[in-house]
Amino acid sequence: MAFSHLFGPVPSRRLGVSLGIDLVPHKVCTLNCVYCECGETTRLTVTRDEYVPFQEVKEELERYLRENPAPDYITFSGSGEPVLNSRIGDVIRLIKGISAVPVAVLTNGTLFNDPTVRREILGADLVMPSLDAASNGAFHRINRPHPRLDVREHIEGLAALRREFPVRCGWRSSCFPVTTTAKRA
Ligand code: SF4
Repeated sequence: MAFSHLFGPVPSRRLGVSLGIDLVPHKVCTLNCVYCECGETTRLTVTRDEYVPFQEVKEELERYLRENPAPDYITFSGSGEPVLNSRIGDVIRLIKGISAVPVAVLTNGTLFNDPTVRREILGADLVMPSLDAASNGAFHRINRPHPRLDVREHIEGLAALRREFPVRCGWRSSCFPVTTTAKRA
């Protein structure tokens, strides 16, 4: 049976065989980047919500892991900003409870100024945020953000997460790499 919220697994240069989880519908994001491979953001928001029901994700993950070989990574990615899903912390805990597969979060990092959001993703093994701009002018030209976002707060949120996030993977000093390009695995 097909999956609604899982995709792949796909071969990833950085993560090996990566099973994707999409926690938001197309296309819910805090940004509307000019280079986005998913097209225009149709719901530009900073409001977190259970955009995809936790129970559906749980059932699909349990079924996938029961019926298929374990991937190298389970990766939050897809057609928008996964951290907008208010149950992402619960999904990470679920994966950790039913498998030994490491978890990666591909995110634009714009919500990490919120300590609650940072706490929720501390259970992941790898967080890969993107950062394209260091001034609000460039931020607006490249990322076309939600009006409530500010690039200084974006950067401060990334710095706070870097301080709090445990170093425990094999990426050495780049365990928490900040990418400057599109965030796909
Ligand atoms: S943050 Fe990612 S998903 Fe959102 S608009 Fe930019 S490239 Fe697309």
